[in-house]
Amino acid sequence: MAIASVNPATLQTTKTYEPLDATSLERKLDLAIRAFASHRTTSMAQRSTWLRGTADVLDADKRRYAELAVVEMGKPIRQAIAEVEKCAWVCRYYADNAASMLADEHIGTDAVDSYVRYEPLGPILAVMPWNFPYWQVFRFAAPALAAGNVGLLKHASNVPQCAMAIEEAFSRAGLPAGAFQTLLVGATAVERLIDDDRIKAVTLTGSEPAGKSVASRAALRVKKSVLELGGSDPFIVTRSADVMAAAATAVTARTINNGQSCIAAKRFILDANIADAFERAMVERFESLTVGDPMDEHTDIGPLVNEDAVRVLDDQVKRLVQAGARVLTGGKRLDRAGCFYAPTVVAGVDPSWPIAAEEFFGPVAMIFRVSSVADAVAVANATPFGLGASVWTTDEAEREAMIAGIEAGAVFVNGMVKSDPRLPFGGVKHSGFGRELGVLGIREFVNAKTVWVGPART
Ligand code: NAP
Repeated sequence: MAIASVNPATLQTTKTYEPLDATSLERKLDLAIRAFASHRTTSMAQRSTWLRGTADVLDADKRRYAELAVVEMGKPIRQAIAEVEKCAWVCRYYADNAASMLADEHIGTDAVDSYVRYEPLGPILAVMPWNFPYWQVFRFAAPALAAGNVGLLKHASNVPQCAMAIEEAFSRAGLPAGAFQTLLVGATAVERLIDDDRIKAVTLTGSEPAGKSVASRAALRVKKSVLELGGSDPFIVTRSADVMAAAATAVTARTINNGQSCIAAKRFILDANIADAFERAMVERFESLTVGDPMDEHTDIGPLVNEDAVRVLDDQVKRLVQAGARVLTGGKRLDRAGCFYAPTVVAGVDPSWPIAAEEFFGPVAMIFRVSSVADAVAVANATPFGLGASVWTTDEAEREAMIAGIEAGAVFVNGMVKSDPRLPFGGVKHSGFGRELGVLGIREFVNAKTVWVGPART
């Protein structure tokens, strides 16, 4: 894929970039190693100052950063601004908490003293997707830099201006040259980077094929990897739930980021007793969404990221209908310029259909009906993914059965799945492994060094 900014609302190519040549890449890797030598010994207080400074830069210039995301990947401007603000939050969160999260952990043994010390690994490669072009990067970079690592970003090829803006934000905050660098390279360069001895570990957020390729290469080189992959999150509504509250949240949970979020609710699993009321409420709300220019403050849903995404989503909806599902609203590309797809609700989906287990990356809600909580959990687990789950109930036994039964990295009760700097984030099954955020996130890219000290003998 060429490295280029193509506005999905207009299909105009606004900028193109040549990938880094071998000499420039070599220079950047060398710089990363030199930066690490100094960054690892920099005090935690200084690293925190740089992170707070980055948060201030993001806040001060959030509109400009947000507009870059809008023109490169099409998310509505209000959501883009909120994304930049969340990046400032994660920087401040680790600035405030990294020291206590990585303090020596003393453990009583037969030693005079024994403890675990957390040390940085070195330059970490981050292979990132376009859908949250800032957030995905900052949720890796803030803890990694706080821990004393340095970062090398291979961003998605369609968001080069966001990629460069991130390096610029760190640099404006005073982070030394080389501690965070953007590498403008395509996916084919990733293997060589993983093979390079100067890179110590790799994290990838993206699709399953990309994750498999990166993790297998890292395994070959005996390097740590973290994978944050796709999802087809269930959204279960039981008969005890507040159905209208669930339906209102369901719309946001499905359509946020133009429906292109890994943790979007994608499969709505409804108790048959409340299903009619829920479907009506959902359809009404889907039909009242404003689809249009993502730069307009009033827009709820902008374009999908590119023509390919529209083609794939439309094909998936057609396959659902061929299998026997009913389109309650939407179900087609919008008749206007740009990559716009109608907000769509499809009912009568059967969990045994292969298409029902696929990830739908766009504003399409699939509805399933079940007759018990046990059935709901079985349908929830009937995909290869295991990222998040949202469950709606007022009954304690139902709640516990769903928390225990659902195979996912997170279960949110009476709320939509979201990421939060304070809570670990990640998946199981084909949604990946490892965690970002919280205390677990900062401990992914460190050497947990065991130290055992015996009595000093003279
Ligand atoms: P993608 O095609 O996998 O791209 C993600 C990144 O991987 C890009 O930088 C891409 O580079 C690179 N890449 C692609 N193929 C590669 C390969 N074989 N080897 C090394 N790198 C490779 O994913 P996407 O379409 O941009 O993003 C959508 C997917 O990401 C969805 O499945 C979504 O659910 C998932 N996602 C997961 C999370 C999570 O936290 N679990 C968050 C957001 C998105 P190029 O752009 O140069 O091809």
